[in-house]
Amino acid sequence: MLLRNIMYLVTMNKRREIIRNAAVLIKENKIADIGEDRDIARKYKGEEVIDASNMVALPGLIQSHTHSPMTLMRGYADDLPLMEWLKEKIWPLEAKLKPRDAYYGSLLANLEMIRFGVTTFADMYPFPEEIFKAVDTSGLRAVISPAIFENINKSSNIKNAKKFLKHKHERIIPSLGPHSTYACTKEELEEVARISEEEKILIHIHAAETKDEIREIKKKYGMRPIEFLDSVGLLNERTLLAHVVWPSKREISLIGKRNSKVVHCPISNMKLASGIAPLPEMKGITVSVGSDGPCSNNNLNVFEEMKITALLHKVNTLDPTMVPANVALEMATINGAVSLGLENEIGSIEVGKRADIILVNFRKPHLTPVYNPISHLVYSCNGEDVDTVIVDGEILLRDGKFTKMNPEKIMNKVEKIKNRLVSTK
Ligand SMILES: [Zn+2]
Repeated sequence: MLLRNIMYLVTMNKRREIIRNAAVLIKENKIADIGEDRDIARKYKGEEVIDASNMVALPGLIQSHTHSPMTLMRGYADDLPLMEWLKEKIWPLEAKLKPRDAYYGSLLANLEMIRFGVTTFADMYPFPEEIFKAVDTSGLRAVISPAIFENINKSSNIKNAKKFLKHKHERIIPSLGPHSTYACTKEELEEVARISEEEKILIHIHAAETKDEIREIKKKYGMRPIEFLDSVGLLNERTLLAHVVWPSKREISLIGKRNSKVVHCPISNMKLASGIAPLPEMKGITVSVGSDGPCSNNNLNVFEEMKITALLHKVNTLDPTMVPANVALEMATINGAVSLGLENEIGSIEVGKRADIILVNFRKPHLTPVYNPISHLVYSCNGEDVDTVIVDGEILLRDGKFTKMNPEKIMNKVEKIKNRLVSTK
């Protein structure tokens, strides 16, 4: 497959090259050649051609923290304090979920993410088998962490999480999702650390999200959450820390020293009024972006996450040079790949990497004129501008239309599930 006449190819390679009038050759699931259109077109004849005139090509976006089946509860309850929202609204509804519901909820999330140019996502939720099936169906790439918080959901225990680790799939990586320091016991966290060390498995965990959490963990263990994670062996280069809104200076330096990764979720943190993560202080730490679950955002649009990240830290520091557009784009692409341990496979458009590429249609009033494609990608684009999505060499979206999935069928199914969840019977 040959992507031709690309207006700008934003490679996100080490030199952050941008090639004008470019072409990309895809062979099976890999990127086989890149260059100027006239050179590539001369070299390869007889390939299936995708015309990318007026399009900007970039690596597929990486959504580094979400809970995909929570689409089922999107918009059910908003504008409440976190604990009241969880305990009185979200958890009672969640308790009614059947495994099959999680499949459809995740499928809907997959659909939405494809529409918005996400090619890889990191998920944490109960029902990992159902999420696995949804990702297998959708064609996306995912790191799936079975949630571990046995006191909240009985089957979300380590035994079941370990079983899930046995799955093998070309595009799906199983990992471990101990929910947080407050929802897991110390023994559970130590066990997760042991398994992760033995099997070199990624750990996906919420950490230092709210001030209440800091107070609670300090009272319980005499340490702050990230210090506590370090004390149980859960702070290492495979640890993905979601949120990190309230770290101390010492904790930030611990994260750096251990080479753990941070997922910034600014929209969720704003909506739940958790606070503003001290991103400018996290120098040298790999930070990616995530939407968090669709109940606290309320969508899975990584374009919004990039823009809000850039804006939030400018206004918070009264410094417009903070988080420039290129940094926001790095967070949503190559940093996401590094965070998931996939930097040799995805996150940039380079020969030998997997063909996870999106084309964004720039022939739009709000994207005209073009001085700098990265500026538009971060500050002017919305997810709907995504025209084509390719994951592992397979086209999942073309001309803004889904090639594999039937969105009407999935949306109807989810409406039906919603009716059952809210019925009093
Ligand atoms: Zn979360």
